[in-house]
Amino acid sequence: MKFIDLDAQRARLQPALNEAIQKVVESGAYIFGPPVAELEAALSSFAKVKHSIACANGTDALHLVLRAFGIGPGDLVAVPSFTFAATGEAPVLVGAEPLFVDVRPDTFNMDPDSLRRAVEADRAKDKRIKAVIAVDLFGHPADYDSIQAICGEFGLWLLADIAQSFGATWKEKSVASMGHAAATSFYPAKPLGCYGDGGAVFTDDDDLADRIKSIRNHGSGSHRYEQIRVGFNSRLDSIQAAVLLEKLKIFLEEICERQGVADRYNAALRDVAAVPDLIGDVTSVWAQYTLRIESRDRVQATLKDSGIPSVIYYPVPLHRQPAFAHCPVAPGGCPASEALSGKVLSLPMHPYLSREDQDRVIAAFRQAVAAPGSHAAE
Ligand SMILES: *Cc1c(COP(=O)(O)O)cnc(C)c1O
Repeated sequence: MKFIDLDAQRARLQPALNEAIQKVVESGAYIFGPPVAELEAALSSFAKVKHSIACANGTDALHLVLRAFGIGPGDLVAVPSFTFAATGEAPVLVGAEPLFVDVRPDTFNMDPDSLRRAVEADRAKDKRIKAVIAVDLFGHPADYDSIQAICGEFGLWLLADIAQSFGATWKEKSVASMGHAAATSFYPAKPLGCYGDGGAVFTDDDDLADRIKSIRNHGSGSHRYEQIRVGFNSRLDSIQAAVLLEKLKIFLEEICERQGVADRYNAALRDVAAVPDLIGDVTSVWAQYTLRIESRDRVQATLKDSGIPSVIYYPVPLHRQPAFAHCPVAPGGCPASEALSGKVLSLPMHPYLSREDQDRVIAAFRQAVAAPGSHAAE
């Protein structure tokens, strides 16, 4: 059994993908060819946002937005500590610094109380926090009501890191429409992935969109050889856009399949582990299915012996990583992030996971947890 299986989807889409890729190869338009504009239009209509701007990867998507916000040296960007490294890297890429905020143990997402404490302490002294990056970890939208309210009150930019949640909704709106801009990744293992690196930025703001489009293509102005700012190269390949256009056609169906797997896991494991429930008026795309258990390492080893793959996302919160050890942390620290890193375990999750394999995962997990010395987390 594979943790994430991309083969079943490839077999399903093979003829269409081959044709789409072949067409790009024959067209000669390898960069910014017609499929890129087509993809941007398709993403905008899928997510109901005004501007979709394709770029080279998810880290660039975050970087582009912070650059367009005007974040730079001396500034702080509040980010959750319990997330993938790229969220913490983005502020550093523009010369700023991340300030780590704690998360909620139930949604794994930024704790608005911790954010408020950080911003109030900052406002009482040097006023360096300029922006917030909210992450929809494992596909579950962050608490945008509370986070948007804090950003509004203190005049902060809000960037939604939707690399794991593109396709999810918050109060029936796409997560791509959250904040002043949202950034996603099309890394192959993400819920919507291509066959290489890819990413996109979403915004309803015309000025932000203009700046981002210019920065992703060497700071170009109204024509190709006019440079109105210093940018960099973060273009998406036409081939990746062509692949994504085919995958987007079946994406909603795949999200339903993922929800079905999560529903079965939740029902079958609720009595032996802290299972991931949806909190609030949200839908998730289940980039990961992540439980909390005591004796996590022993359970993982037992699962491995039964042939069931599992992964720890994330074993070390960012504020405890050597790369970020010198960065500021919200008052009160990040105790929930630290506790989670010792308890989380993600089980196999993808839209093509057969019922038989789901049952094998469930049986093996129940058996592993029931072994002496382990019990469900609080
Ligand atoms: C994957 C991911 C990114 C970065 O995406 P890349 O395409 O790998 O650069 C950023 N944030 C989160 C939360 C991610 O999971």
